[in-house]
Amino acid sequence: MKIKNKEKELDKKGTVGCVALDKNGNLAAGTSTGGMTNKKYGRVGDSPIIGAGTYADNQSCGVSCTGHGEYFIRYAVAFDINALMKYKNMSLKDAAAEVVSNKLVKAGGEGGIIAIDKNGNVVMEFNTTGMFRGYVDMNGKKEILLFKK
Ligand code: ASP
Repeated sequence: MKIKNKEKELDKKGTVGCVALDKNGNLAAGTSTGGMTNKKYGRVGDSPIIGAGTYADNQSCGVSCTGHGEYFIRYAVAFDINALMKYKNMSLKDAAAEVVSNKLVKAGGEGGIIAIDKNGNVVMEFNTTGMFRGYVDMNGKKEILLFKK
């Protein structure tokens, strides 16, 4: 019983991020969070800050982030992934790896992202042990994952 209650509690506080590409080529991203555990009263994390924890641009990608928000704000993570694609012509996969698994790791920022590009490629990059994640593609293929593949 106690464990069940604990699970319910965790359910309510978890981060929920989503990204989507519609049939007209519009990209969208959204992020909902309870913030960091034991956060200071009044703290604003990265999730509601466009360019930090959430970003979408029809010319590149949609990105939603989870993790230690201060780092995602400082490194403008969601915008940086988009910028690497736009200005350096990088693929979503390479841009996400550069930001999440190189820049953030060097800085000590833990977390991950889910993202989709304008062609429907899905990338879910994280530098932690696991990240609950899933997707459905345009052919109806679905996948739900926790740890690295
Ligand atoms: N990124 C969030 C914050 O720092 C925490 C999370 O939900 O992953 O507020």
